[in-house]
Amino acid sequence: MNNLVQEAQVLQEELVGIRRHLHVHPEIGMELPQTTVFVKKKLEEMGYEPKAAGPGGLSVVAGGKKPGKCFLIRADMDALPIDEASDDTCRSTNGCMHACGHDFHTTMLLGAAKLLKAHEDRIQGSVKLMFQPGEELLLGAKSMIEHGILDNPQVDAAAMFHVAVGMPFPAGTILIPGGGAYSSASDHFEVTIQGKGGHGAMPEHCVDPILVASHLYLNLQTIISREIAPAETAVISTGIIKAGEVNNVIPDTASMKGTIRTYNAEVREFILNRVQEVAIKTAETFRAKAETHIIEGCPSVFIDAKVATDVRQILGSVFGKAVINPTELGIPRLGGSEDFSFVTQKVPSVMLMLSAGSPEEGYAYSMHHPKAIFNEAVLSQGAAAYAITALGWLEKNAPVHGVKA
Ligand SMILES: [Zn+2]
Ligand SMILES: [Zn+2]
Repeated sequence: MNNLVQEAQVLQEELVGIRRHLHVHPEIGMELPQTTVFVKKKLEEMGYEPKAAGPGGLSVVAGGKKPGKCFLIRADMDALPIDEASDDTCRSTNGCMHACGHDFHTTMLLGAAKLLKAHEDRIQGSVKLMFQPGEELLLGAKSMIEHGILDNPQVDAAAMFHVAVGMPFPAGTILIPGGGAYSSASDHFEVTIQGKGGHGAMPEHCVDPILVASHLYLNLQTIISREIAPAETAVISTGIIKAGEVNNVIPDTASMKGTIRTYNAEVREFILNRVQEVAIKTAETFRAKAETHIIEGCPSVFIDAKVATDVRQILGSVFGKAVINPTELGIPRLGGSEDFSFVTQKVPSVMLMLSAGSPEEGYAYSMHHPKAIFNEAVLSQGAAAYAITALGWLEKNAPVHGVKA
């Protein structure tokens, strides 16, 4: 496998070129017209026949010459609606930014595609490469699953990489978590409180929706503090409260919007229900009415312990001490969300992280920050790691004596 690392290093300059092209031309959402044309062309140049999987989604398959299982490796391709303010030489100027590093993921998976093509004869089964849109909307993975990305050939296990900056790990560190829930489920709530507006000096003739919103803001926190077991982790954050425009007028309505993060499916369902109940009952207490709306985002990424162990052995044998288990460092979970979770619900999977620079190395801003920068030196390592993960897992799980295991 070490030869793949060297072969990837030869591709480094080409990968930097691809990454810079993607970084200068970021696109957001589910369609990504320029990005998909670019990626498709690159894959065709390598000898692949890319297939569409829903809007903005592409896939190719490497291998299939030897019997074996099918391993999926995934990269997301979408950017964020952030005006870039970094010092990057390839800074984007179109109002969008690859602030989450998805330009790295796309580049690394293209690099892996090239490496896998060069070694197609030795693949024990097949590798499916998934190029996904709309991760930031938490819609892309679900859409690609609905359009058959996990079928034909049927996927047996899957992995994804996410780059990380602004975290205390030197560039090139690969984080492989233990089994279980890793990222949080993400859901949004919206509450509209209908009161009765009027003169600020005569509250007795009014039903004050701001009072309801104030109580509701606090009541929602009591779901976490009084109804969820201390051993569980859950967050309710109200990010928006809007009401009123004039000092001496009690408004008719108030609105609140927020986010709910959980790691356990039962806790998730409980909180989604309780947020609505508490909103409706709090409004009733003060003679108002509340209408609630839940926007379900994505579940928690579930790491399969067996796949994680296999991949830790495979990457550990190549990258040595650069491979670490964040659980052992007291970071068993990620705060953010990742829509690869929909894949992890269907097939045993692992989510891996690759550091692209720590604050000590000059990469102080974390993902989603308009000043975030990422170290391009890890591109070839990422490409090699994607390919090695897939090849290694397929070898480890290859059929015994020609019989499918
Ligand atoms: Zn992101
Ligand atoms: Zn991301």
